[in-house]
Order: sequence, then C-alpha cells, then structure tokens
Amino acid sequence: MQVEQLLDRLGVDPKQVKGGSLAVHSPIDGQLIGELTMHQPEDVDAAVARAKEAYKAWRTVPAPRRGELIRLLGEELRKEKEALGRLVSYEAGKIIAEGQGEVQEMIDICDFAVGLSRQLYGLTIASERPGHRMMESWHPLGVVGVITAFNFPVAVWSWNTCLAIVCGNPVVWKPSEKSPLTALACQALFERALARFGDAPEGLSQVIIGERDLGERLVDNHDVALVSATGSTRMGREVGPRVAARFGRSLLELGGNNAIIVTPSADLDLAARGILFGAVGTAGQRCTSTRRLIVHDSVADELVARLRKAYGSATVGNPLDASTLVGPLIDKDAFDAMQKALEQAKAQGGTVYGGERQLADTYPDAWYVSPALVEMPDQTDIVRSETFAPILYVLRYSDYEQAIALQNDVPQGLSSAVFTNDLREAETFLSAAGSDCGIVNVNIGTSGAEIGGAFGGEKETGGGRESGSDSWKVYMRRATNTVNYSKELPLAQGIQFGD
Ligand code: NAD
Repeated sequence: MQVEQLLDRLGVDPKQVKGGSLAVHSPIDGQLIGELTMHQPEDVDAAVARAKEAYKAWRTVPAPRRGELIRLLGEELRKEKEALGRLVSYEAGKIIAEGQGEVQEMIDICDFAVGLSRQLYGLTIASERPGHRMMESWHPLGVVGVITAFNFPVAVWSWNTCLAIVCGNPVVWKPSEKSPLTALACQALFERALARFGDAPEGLSQVIIGERDLGERLVDNHDVALVSATGSTRMGREVGPRVAARFGRSLLELGGNNAIIVTPSADLDLAARGILFGAVGTAGQRCTSTRRLIVHDSVADELVARLRKAYGSATVGNPLDASTLVGPLIDKDAFDAMQKALEQAKAQGGTVYGGERQLADTYPDAWYVSPALVEMPDQTDIVRSETFAPILYVLRYSDYEQAIALQNDVPQGLSSAVFTNDLREAETFLSAAGSDCGIVNVNIGTSGAEIGGAFGGEKETGGGRESGSDSWKVYMRRATNTVNYSKELPLAQGIQFGD
C-alpha cells in the first residue's frame, strides 16, 4: 500500500495532508508524501484550554474505566499494526520489521497501562500519634504536553499517552515536524477508540502540527502541568529551564552516547550480533544506538575483523524490502552531520571504514550510507558527542577499571552494556561503581529496551524515566493524608500548645 492508501485505511482525512505549508518527504526516495497545514501559536493555547476542561471531567472517572479506553486503543492498534508500521517506514525510513516493532511496542504499553489502571496505589504509613492514620494518595496531575522526535514517531507518544490517560490526564502532542503523518494516524486511531468508548470528554488527546515554535508555546503554557520532551540535548537544554522557570514539571528524554564493553571472557558471537544490531539497526538513528565499542586488547583484532565482515554484508537499501537491514538517514542534514563527524574523527587520529553515500543513482533525493566503523586512538571530542547516524567508534582497553571509566567519561548517560562471562566483571558493571547510565545491561546490547522497565538516562540524557516500572508516578501528584479517628488532638513531635 502507498502512503495515500495507508492514511485512508488509518482514518486520516485526506484534506489534512494536502495544500499546507509543512512539506513531508519520505526518506526512502525523497518523494513528497504530504503537505500539512500548520497550527498557529494561538491554536496551542486553545488546545491546552480544551485539555484543561477535559481534565476536570476525566480526573473523576475511575481509573479502571480510564483503562478501558486504552484497552480499546490497543485493539485498534492490533488491527492496524501492519498499516501503521508501514507508514512509519515511509515517514521515518525504518525497515519493515522495525516499523512493525514500534507498533508492537505501542500495543505492549497499552496492555501495561490497562493493568496499571487497577494498580495506582499509595502507601499507608505508621503515624506517631494514637488514633491516627497516615497515607499517600495519587491524583491526576493535569494537562500533559508531549514533544517527540522523528525517530520513534509513534511509540514515544504511546508511552506517554497510555500512562497519562489511565492516570487521569489529557495529552496535547507536538510531534516532530519530520513525522507528522504518523501523528495524524495515531490521533485517528485514538478517535476510533474514543468513539467505541462513548462518554469521554472532548480534548483528551490533541495533536499540534508544526515546528519548534509551537513546541515552545506548549512549554511556556502555565496550564501544562508536565512537559514530556524527547529529542536532542540541545532541545532539552532549552525546554528544561523554561518549564522550571514556571515551576512546571518536565520529563526529559534526550541524546545518548551508548557503549558496549567487550571483555576477554565474552562470547564473541553474541557480542558481534548485539553490536551489529545496536550500531547499524535503524541506521544508527536510535537514542540507544551503540556508538562506542570498548574492547579488550586481547580480543579486539578478532572482534573488529568479524564486525567489518558483518558490516560488509549488511544490506543497505529500501526499507520496504524484506532483505534490507539498513534503511536511509532521515534527510540531507543527517548525512552532512555524519560526513562532518567522520572528517573530525580522521583529524583526531581515527581510521574510518565505510560511511560513504550509497544508492545515489537510484535515489538521488534520499540519503543512504554504508555504516561506518572507526578505530580511534582514544576518546576524543568527536567520540564524546552524539552524531545521529551509523558510526561506531572502536576504543581498545587493557584494564577493566579503565574500560568502565571510558564508558562513563561522556556527557550523556542513557544506555550501556558489557559482554562478559566473568561474574565479577558483570556485577562490577551493574554496581554503584559501574556504569553511570539509566540502562545497564549484561550480555545484551544497548538498544531495544522492553516497555516493562523504566526508560531513560542520566546527565545530558535529561534524567527522565518513562514507560514501565513506577514511571507512572511522574504523571500524578502525591498528597499525604493524615486522618484522626480519636477524640484527642495530639500534635506531631509532642508539641504542647495552649492547655
Ligand atoms: P530535535 O531535538 O531536533 O526535535 C525533537 C522535538 O523537539 C521536535 O518535535 C521539535 O520540533 C521539538 N523542539 C526542538 N526545539 C524545541 C524547543 N526549543 N522547544 C520546544 N520544542 C522543541 O530531535 P530529533 O532530531 O527529532 O531527534 C533526534 C534526537 O532525539 C537525538 O538526539 C536522540 O538521541 C533523541 N532521542 C532521545 C530519546 C530518549 O528517549 N532519550 C528517544 C528518541 C530520540
């Protein structure tokens, strides 16, 4: 199916994607696949005002009933997994398996959120006063503003929206200007679920089409209780202080610079497969992509040789072909940034293998590359920064402590992994003195997290956690309650006041 048919099947009104000033080009071949009308800044305020009204009604709907809406959304997504996944491929350039995988992630978070809707619990706390009870209650927070990046155009919305909705909050979403079509499709599917659900207030989920200025408008709106923003560290550096200045809450999911350490005892087959998926999958355009390989001297030659062979046979091509492993970069800017990084790596002593443009004759308006492997003498500036492209820097080490220090010595702190069969090395990596990232793995790569765990990272990755575990708490406010069921009024800390 072509884009037009996919949009039709997913319930997007064709008028929404024609004649507007936001041109969307498929990274597959550069073809124009949509011209969307952008919202105006006032539209953002109006959307937030509608959401605020919706909040007043939605917060009193019992959470398991709110979960029912997400159960219905999960059903719609199951029906349209194929079509939505394909649209992700057209708009973000992901290979079919990864486009489908992204929609599966949405289905998984729906299931998780439905269960969660019956588990929004607080603690009961022992009171120091006789005849008193203390407890905490969790209440809906308010309007949630969601800002997303192009590379997970649908999953990140669902991570936030499914949790926000069961927690009692409406969502106003500003998707990436590079992937607005999939956003319209998500909204259409949400509306199908709403129609079946029946009595939900208007404005529970809304989409704002436009560029960064509209994101800024959302960030500055005092009625947005939580801004959940996914994107570059540059974006987070702007968003974080602006939200803090009005004492709003933010959840930042920013850039990563993820490393895999391979030790002498590692299973090199496993390691090579984990590194390949992490470094070249999604053409290196995941926040959790493997960007650094820190390998022990004794196994470095063998591992690098295996990787070079595997890189040589990783098919670069149209992501809609089942045999393709590496699809295109999102646009020319991404290609230029990759070439610039490779030049810098060379200037800083690196030896570059791969990284050249591919398929320029077949797709003159698209940006395919062979993934690059770069041997570096040490962790120079370019290695310490995130380039959103398939570049894997290889560093060698001789001492395990030095390897962990290298892993940690970057500004970002998202995902990390060690391949080892040595219990001491594994446990050290997981310990307080080990990796400083939010995701720390053993014998599995850096990318491809499950939804059940809390997702996010430290340092310039922003510190946010979303998706599984107890991440729901960020979408709620906590009240501490003390109830006196005695006939006395004892004060805390034994204070005597008056008689
Ligand atoms: P980007 O920062 O260019 O844009 C992300 C979103 O932020 C877009 O919707 C954009 O319009 C908006 N935006 C930009 N500046 C803004 C501002 N000042 N105020 C409000 N909104 C603003 O990122 P991108 O190129 O789309 O995505 C790639 C980046 O996202 C990479 O750095 C990647 O690591 C990161 N990312 C992180 C995660 C994570 O969970 N940690 C997940 C996916 C992507």
